[in-house]
Amino acid sequence: SSGVVIVGAGQAGITAAFTLRDRGYGGLITVLGAEDELPYERPPLSKNYLYADPSASLDLAFRPEQYYIDRGITLRLGCTVTAIDRAGRQLSLDDGSAMPYTDLILATGTSPIVPPIPGADLGGVHVLRSLADARALRQELRGARHLTSIGGGFIGLELASAASRLGLESCVLDIADRVLQRAVSTTTSDYLTATHRQRGTRVQLSTGLAEMVGDDRVRAVVTTNGESIRTDLVVIAVGVRPNTRLAQEAGLEVANGIVVDEHLRTPDPAIFAIGDCANFPDGFSGLRIRLESVQAATDHARLVAAQITGDDPGRYRSVPWFWSHQSTTKLQIAGYTSCSDKDIIRGDLESGRFSIFRYDQGQLRAVESINRPADHVNARRLLAAEVSLTPDDIASAADLRSLLPV
Ligand code: FAD
Repeated sequence: SSGVVIVGAGQAGITAAFTLRDRGYGGLITVLGAEDELPYERPPLSKNYLYADPSASLDLAFRPEQYYIDRGITLRLGCTVTAIDRAGRQLSLDDGSAMPYTDLILATGTSPIVPPIPGADLGGVHVLRSLADARALRQELRGARHLTSIGGGFIGLELASAASRLGLESCVLDIADRVLQRAVSTTTSDYLTATHRQRGTRVQLSTGLAEMVGDDRVRAVVTTNGESIRTDLVVIAVGVRPNTRLAQEAGLEVANGIVVDEHLRTPDPAIFAIGDCANFPDGFSGLRIRLESVQAATDHARLVAAQITGDDPGRYRSVPWFWSHQSTTKLQIAGYTSCSDKDIIRGDLESGRFSIFRYDQGQLRAVESINRPADHVNARRLLAAEVSLTPDDIASAADLRSLLPV
């Protein structure tokens, strides 16, 4: 038999391969990855990878090469899948060969969006998704004086922190009127903006990018307000697009990601989609969403591996969680919501250690913790336990653990 074939050697694809073996899957497992790198984790790429001493070895690989050999996982790196023949159950690869599959897992991730802005092709203008991107950026950070992040999302803010830490002047431009607009409460946005500003980063909100100007290299960004901001390094971090072309061309439904059901399966029973590229019905929020997080990538992978090894893990309903490190600020998020109508704060903003419990229509949906890791752990437990908690319960509990079911 042809076994499981996984397209994409990232967090989701590799977790699926490892979990299949952990669960005793005895067939062939092949992982095909376009990047020519031993599979690695991405979160450090906008954090310690950039500011750690480049000579200190920081190994981002999930596992050494020998581990894959020992576990009978075939890695084919630097190899792009170009087409899926669903009727024939085989893939076409860019080297002209074909690869048959019994079960196919699409874990193709995302690609950064680069808006069509004049100057985007100048030297010193970067995106940050891959280790190759991070290597190029790290190289240029030594020797540069100013870094401008286009986009005040997680990557843009983490980059600004890393640049400040390396002694550069940093600036974050965002078209929205607050940073992390799509991801966190206004209180957290405002808190982060204030801390970045205190550390010397310029945070310019409600401001778009009109063009980038320079000679061979970028020298300045020109904002939609007509201001010219001097810079010698720019990172475009305005968001990503899921890599769905393969699925789409194979006739699978695509709508902000590859559309899957509550088992992460496409309408073709032999094909799953997981991680950043998947649009799935989220049992936690009740919404159909696409998440870009290590948590979703690994939990999706585990659910699919369980199904392939013949278990019925039920429908997907993990509590989402996420983290971001920005200088001395450690932000953690449990749950998921795109809005809230009531926010309860525990701790105090002044001390830089607080949590925000976000309610929508009477239901606790998400908890943002700033430098309160214990709250984050408890919040994940509370959300998983599905106990109904009023805002008063949260506000008055001396210890969050007392709210957990016994
Ligand atoms: P990916 O890791 O993107 O892997 C997909 C792989 O598929 C890629 O290597 C791609 O080249 C390959 N591929 C695509 N198409 C093909 C094809 N046709 N043929 C062969 N290969 C193909 N998450 C957090 O939870 N916390 C964080 O702090 C955090 N920080 C981050 C910082 C950065 C800089 C970045 C970029 C991401 C960060 N994330 C963070 C997000 C997290 O890394 C992603 O959610 C996770 O990597 C998703 O895993 P994935 O396997 O779905 O996709």
